[in-house]
Formats: sequence, structure tokens, C-alpha cells
Amino acid sequence: MIQPVPTTRSRALVIGAGIVGLSCAFFLRRTGHDVTILDRDPNGDRASLGNAGAIAQPEVMPIAAPGIVSKLPRYLLDPLGPLYIQLGYAWRLWPYLSRFLRAANNRQYAASAESMGSLLVTAFDDHGTIHQETGLGHLLSKDGHLWVYRSPAVRDALPDWKIRERQGLACTFLNRDDLVSEEPALGPMAACAVRTNDWATYVDPKAYVMGLMTHLREQGVAFQDCNVGTLDGDTVTGTDGRRYPFEHLVIAAGAWSHRLTEQLGDWCPLETERGYNTTIPSPGISLNRMLTFAEDHFVATPMSMGLRIGGAVEFAGLKTPPNFNRSKALLELAAKYLPELNVDGGTEWMGHRPSTPDSLPVIDRASRYSNVFYAFGHGHLGLTGSATTGRLIAALVRGEEASLDLTPFRIGRF
Ligand SMILES: Cc1cc2nc3c(=O)[nH]c(=O)nc-3n(C[C@H](O)[C@H](O)[C@H](O)COP(=O)(O)OP(=O)(O)OC[C@H]3O[C@@H](n4cnc5c(N)ncnc54)[C@H](O)[C@@H]3O)c2cc1C
Repeated sequence: MIQPVPTTRSRALVIGAGIVGLSCAFFLRRTGHDVTILDRDPNGDRASLGNAGAIAQPEVMPIAAPGIVSKLPRYLLDPLGPLYIQLGYAWRLWPYLSRFLRAANNRQYAASAESMGSLLVTAFDDHGTIHQETGLGHLLSKDGHLWVYRSPAVRDALPDWKIRERQGLACTFLNRDDLVSEEPALGPMAACAVRTNDWATYVDPKAYVMGLMTHLREQGVAFQDCNVGTLDGDTVTGTDGRRYPFEHLVIAAGAWSHRLTEQLGDWCPLETERGYNTTIPSPGISLNRMLTFAEDHFVATPMSMGLRIGGAVEFAGLKTPPNFNRSKALLELAAKYLPELNVDGGTEWMGHRPSTPDSLPVIDRASRYSNVFYAFGHGHLGLTGSATTGRLIAALVRGEEASLDLTPFRIGRF
């Protein structure tokens, strides 16, 4: 089954027209491959269209933090809280949850943060490569970011900052007066903040995705509507029976990827962390940059179409309808920090983050097929890590050595 690694241009298929699949297609096309992207719904259910827009290089800390186990019971009792497992779904979550709980220790936490840091260190350069050729750089706002605190809990974050500082990421502490002069819309609830400049935001993530699709079409990349049903080492078959032979295949199907890798003999405890937001067209206030409300686990991003308030982690699988009471609960929280916020007229959204127990994506070659590659599982950081993942996958397809050690990102680690 193992096929030789060609070094010349080849016919490459990418499954998934989310930001990760598009970025893989971009770097593959750039190095001369004939690329076709298959997606069952190119304009539909994709985390990439409605996210918070951040290129968040410092967000290297995994979700499985050492203290999280003691907080879980409190979280689980609150269906609108920051982390919720739907009761009927809990038993299906065990393959993920058991590994998540095992990863929630100091050693694994620091190791995952180091690995994520090694992946994201070139995030801005790799997005820059895409901007240079697509002209989409104007969508990126480079105003930095603030973690806003309502209590001295900011001290709890100091160990995380030590890890980030080792990765060359800098931060500044702002007291209440400094904070309000930077963000006058914040009310008395905001006590202090930590500022980072290693952060930027796309002011319209959907426009970025659509702009990249347009560019790829102009470069000769083909898009096919195809709900992938089965696959092996040389052909993908749609549920309508159409067959797509390939020389190289990249699986970048977001939260649905594990269903495809399983057919190739590679199991992965991939889950979806469902996240929610509301985009308010006339919020009545303005923010100068993206804010994360650290203790209440939500974010506010100023975007070209309004203010987007979002967050939440909900484990309820891929088929359960959205519970938009979550979006409403986040707006209520936001109004506490931003007293002049007008929450009327917002558009609610839910997206499926593709998540692994250790918060690290899978960037790898299939164990049985050397011409099949995996690019999924980026969780909260798929937009941030997309361009680097695309560059690394293109290098693997060319048979080159990757620019960083990909061992922590192997599918076999589970
Ligand atoms: C509320 C929220 C806020 C977020 N904020 C940020 C942020 O600020 N910064 C950041 O970096 N990340 C953020 N993320 C995470 C980010 O959005 C995701 O990690 C990223 O979009 C995942 O991209 P993807 O291409 O892997 O998956 P997707 O965008 O989900 O794309 C997967 C594609 O695969 C297709 N597909 C699946 N199965 C098949 C099949 N069998 N046949 C054909 N096609 C198939 C789907 O139709 C879909 O188009 C956020 C996510 C959420 C939910």
C-alpha cells in the first residue's frame, strides 16, 4: 500500500473548504499541484465562517488545564455556563473525556503549550504569505488584544505568562485607569487587564474565507460539491457514487475528519466543542481591539459588520440543534462589563470547533497510505493555525522535511 513520495506536481484532492482546507490548497497550488477541493456544502456548516476572527499567537495554553477537574462539577450543573456536556451525550464523550482528564496535569499542560507555541510562532508570517498573493491583508486589524479581569485573579495567569515569555511573547499589565483610557466603553466591573500585541483580528472571517476561495478559483483550483462517503489510498467516492481518483489527498474536514480517517485505519478521539456568538450591527459603543473577559470566558471582537460577542464550550455532538439561549447568556454577561452596550438586532451563530483532548491539531501522514495527509483538530485556534498548517502539509506532500518537529501532532499519539 505504501506509495513513493513524488517530488513533482501531482493531482491533489483536499476534503474540506474550511479555512484549514483552503490554506492547504493555497500552499499546494503555489508549489504547482493541480488541486481540487471537495466539500458537501461550500457555503454551509463551517466553523471558519463565523468565528471570533483572532490570530491569537499567545493562546497556546490547552483547555485541559491542571485545575479544571475540580471545576467540572460546577460547570456541568449550569447548561448556560462556560463548559457544558449535554446529559444524553456524556457517554459518547468518554473516549475524548478520558484522554482530556489524563492530559489535565502540569507536565502535559506545559508540553502541549510548548508544542502549540512551536506551531504558532510563524502564524503571522504564514498568513502574510497568503495576504501577499491574495491581497486580503486589509482584512487584518493589528491592534493587539486585552485580557480583562474583574478581580485580582490576573495573578492566577502568571504561570501561563511565564510559559509564553519563554516563547518570546510579551505582555503588559494595565491597572484600571490605564485600561479605561484604552477602552472607555468598559464599566466599573473591569478592574485591570493584560495587554499583548502578538495578536491580530480579521474584521470579517467570512470575507477572508470567501476571498481565499475566489483567489484559488482564479489560480485554477477546482471546487466540487461532494459529500464524501468512502475513501481508500487512491480514490474518494461521494455518497452520490461519483469517484475522484487522486495522487495525493488531504483530509481537512474539520469536526467530521475522524469519520474519514477511520476508513484508512487511523482512529482519533476528535470531538466538537460547539461555540456560540451574536454579531450586533449597532452596538452603541466602540472597542479599539478584541477583548477576552478572562474569568467569564467570553470575547468581544470589533468587526466590520458590528460587534461580535461569543464563546462557550458545549459538548453535544454534531447533530443536536443549537441552543441559542447560550448566545443570549453571553450577551447578558457582556452588558455587565459594557454598560452602554445595545444588544438589539444581533445575529446568532453556532459553530463546531474540531477538538482533540490535548488541544493540539493533527498534522500528519496517514499510517497506511503515504500519499494521504491529515490537517484537522485545531479547536479554538483553527484560523490562527490554518496558514502554517497549509505550509507544513504542502511540504509533507512534496516529501520535504517539515520546518518543525511534528511528533506532538501525530494521529498515533492517541
Ligand atoms: C465561536 C467560535 C469562535 C472561534 N474563534 C476563533 C478565533 O478567534 N481564532 C481562531 O483561530 N479560531 C477560532 N475558532 C476556531 C476556528 O473557527 C476553527 O478551528 C476552524 O474554523 C476550523 O476550520 P476547519 O477548516 O478545520 O473546519 P471547518 O471550517 O468546519 O470546515 C470543514 C469543512 O469540511 C466539510 N466536510 C466535512 N465532512 C465532509 C464530507 N464527508 N464530505 C465533504 N465535505 C465535508 C464541511 O462541509 C466544512 O466545510 C472559533 C470557533 C468557534 C466555534
